[in-house]
Amino acid sequence: MTFDTPITIALSKGRIFNETLPLLAHAGIEAVDDPEASRKLILATNHSAVKLLIIRATDVPTYVQWGAADIGVAGKDVLIEHGGEGLYEPLDLQIARCRLMVAGAKGASLSGNQLRIATKYVNAARTHFAAKGQQVEVIKLYGSMELAPLVGLSDLIVDLVESGNTLKANGLVPLEHIMEISSRLVVNKAAWKMKHATVVQLLDAMRQAVESRARSDG
Ligand code: ATP
Ligand code: MG
Repeated sequence: MTFDTPITIALSKGRIFNETLPLLAHAGIEAVDDPEASRKLILATNHSAVKLLIIRATDVPTYVQWGAADIGVAGKDVLIEHGGEGLYEPLDLQIARCRLMVAGAKGASLSGNQLRIATKYVNAARTHFAAKGQQVEVIKLYGSMELAPLVGLSDLIVDLVESGNTLKANGLVPLEHIMEISSRLVVNKAAWKMKHATVVQLLDAMRQAVESRARSDG
């Protein structure tokens, strides 16, 4: 691919960066610096027109919404909490996969009104319990949700679960599945129009990488 139009891509370091790199490589984009080694927040790539912004996972939709980045990679959990205003979400990258679940002490009751739910995922939690016709009190936390039921802050938590080991280490168990989570490519709505040809080329190359990986995984 050639990039005549400047393109800025926002992503978080860690699993999203590591799993997005091979997909970008399929579009011919390679990072020049390693975000784990460098403190730079703007990373150059092998294309002078393409830059990577390294930001907190929860900030990715905000940068893309306001056009500070044209494209971003964000978990569905983060997109649900953000609300998706100003963004298109054209591609499921099928990376950073996990489940959003209700968890608590073994045998904890899932029913009843006025249950207290501690979570970082306030919107998703409210929507889930409202769909079941349950009135719950949602307590917003920013991390370490597993602690809340142990010290009586909440009855249950809503959190992302991959192996379940973090829950288990704290004497908690997954109780109810809310949804499958994966990371999505998001595009600023104005960039989608103004930079359409470049964005679509990049999107198609990444989609091919996702599809060929899905085929080889069987
Ligand atoms: P921070 O760690 O900076 O507070 P974060 O926890 O949102 O932010 P990451 O841990 O990098 O950032 O997670 C980024 C995304 O990866 C999440 O939004 C989610 O979609 C996904 N994710 C989180 N935890 C897991 C997990 N255990 N397994 C797979 N994917 C996960
Ligand atoms: Mg994290």
